[in-house]
Amino acid sequence: MTSFSSDFTMTIGGKAVAGASSFAVLNPANEQVVGQAPDCSAEQLDEAVAAARAAFPAWSATPIEKRREALLAIAGVLAANGEELKRLLTSEQGKPHDKAFEDVMGGAFWCQATSGLDLPVHVVEDGPERRGETRRTPLGVVGAIAPWNFPIILAMFKVAPGLLAGNTMVLKPSPFTPLTTLKLGELLRGVLPDGVLNIVSGGDSLGPWMTAHKGIDKISFTGSTATGRKVMASASESLKRVTLELGGNDAAIVLPDVDVAAVAEKLFWAAFTNTGQICVATKRMYVHKDIYEPLKEALVAYAKTVKMGDGAEQGTQLGPIQNHQQYKRVLDLIADAKAKGYSFLMGGEKSEAPGYFIPITILDNPPEDSRIVQEEQFGPVLPLLKFDQVDDAIARANASDYGLGASVWSADSAKALEIGSRLQAGTVWVNETQYITPMGVFGGHKQSGLGAEGAMEGLMEYTNAQTIYVKKAQPIPA
Ligand code: NAD
Repeated sequence: MTSFSSDFTMTIGGKAVAGASSFAVLNPANEQVVGQAPDCSAEQLDEAVAAARAAFPAWSATPIEKRREALLAIAGVLAANGEELKRLLTSEQGKPHDKAFEDVMGGAFWCQATSGLDLPVHVVEDGPERRGETRRTPLGVVGAIAPWNFPIILAMFKVAPGLLAGNTMVLKPSPFTPLTTLKLGELLRGVLPDGVLNIVSGGDSLGPWMTAHKGIDKISFTGSTATGRKVMASASESLKRVTLELGGNDAAIVLPDVDVAAVAEKLFWAAFTNTGQICVATKRMYVHKDIYEPLKEALVAYAKTVKMGDGAEQGTQLGPIQNHQQYKRVLDLIADAKAKGYSFLMGGEKSEAPGYFIPITILDNPPEDSRIVQEEQFGPVLPLLKFDQVDDAIARANASDYGLGASVWSADSAKALEIGSRLQAGTVWVNETQYITPMGVFGGHKQSGLGAEGAMEGLMEYTNAQTIYVKKAQPIPA
């Protein structure tokens, strides 16, 4: 097993680059410093963009078969270093080791699966006078901006199609979780041609510098809806292409015919996996009144068996909130619910342990217009909501500016599918949640996003359409 050094450097033009200065990255389980990340200056970002631009002509002209091999090489590096990367990821992100391993290996799988896609050529016409076809050409330099909840796999959602399509890239991880991504950049030096994938880390200015940078042709962003708006506004100055994967407030609708005992555990994990810090976590759970009481009891009973703690400790199932900013946000939502006198089934207290821990918190039927129902909590806090008529549950689920995911739970999957088809969300699941595959289109409706990731549709986001007509030589008159 490799053992990593504790130095973290950016990767620019295939070389290690120290930051102009550095910033501390904390372990959210104990607030101890894990490492110092380079703080990229504006000049260093210029260098990274220049390196990507310099690498673009050769990379875009590289046969797609070779670019496929490059994705497989990234997958190989992730897989070969999975154990070590997982430890580093847990120390900066907080999630349990097995979940950190899934993030790393999920990234490898995404690269491998995406490498099988092809850039299509569509023949428009092919007659005696002319042949016309629409091809896909790369955009140029892509700026990829990733969040802190799944640092590796969500970065690979961008890197894999971006590189396969022939673009070169500058990738920026979240300042809260930059270390594993920086380490991956180090491992990839010499694996990819210099400048094809540059990795930079920095503070709050770096993202806006990227979205405003004249040398970047597209921004692929995953993060909150509030930041997504700023990204789009800034990118509009130079008409950069944007893909925005944003926040969600996913509803689950639970019908009265479910087997309560069997479904409670699945519903628990729908809401609380990754300590609720998943864009497609169930964030509002609408439960039919006939099973509301037994389901609420089963959920609470199961929740009490779940171990929250330091992700590096054996047996931990849920880690802390990833950063202090988000910790404060979730505590503020809980304080609001308390101040309004809403009923808590469990939780609602701040943990006294060091680190950003918030115990599992479940609310008992708070009002529909409460902040905990209307806002994205992105933490271990779930409102259970009672409904009588399915139409009412659908209307409440759809009454949101978000439209990322949704789920319907029933013993009758045909009925659940019919209900699911009426939900305004980019992904709808029946009797499960959070299943996402590289071959399925993933994207948000409404203010949950713009464009998509995954499958051909995701690959197309990294291309321009180019239609070429060739006038054929006319036959020589006899
Ligand atoms: P965030 O918006 O705070 O930050 C995301 C990234 O954007 C970070 O790298 C950050 O440094 C950068 N950034 C911040 N301000 C910027 C600016 N003005 N210009 C450019 N970049 C900027 O989001 P977060 O807190 O890291 O992630 C949580 C949010 O992400 C949640 O809302 C969650 O639902 C959403 N999310 C969405 C998806 C999806 O696929 N739809 C996946 C994961 C997370």
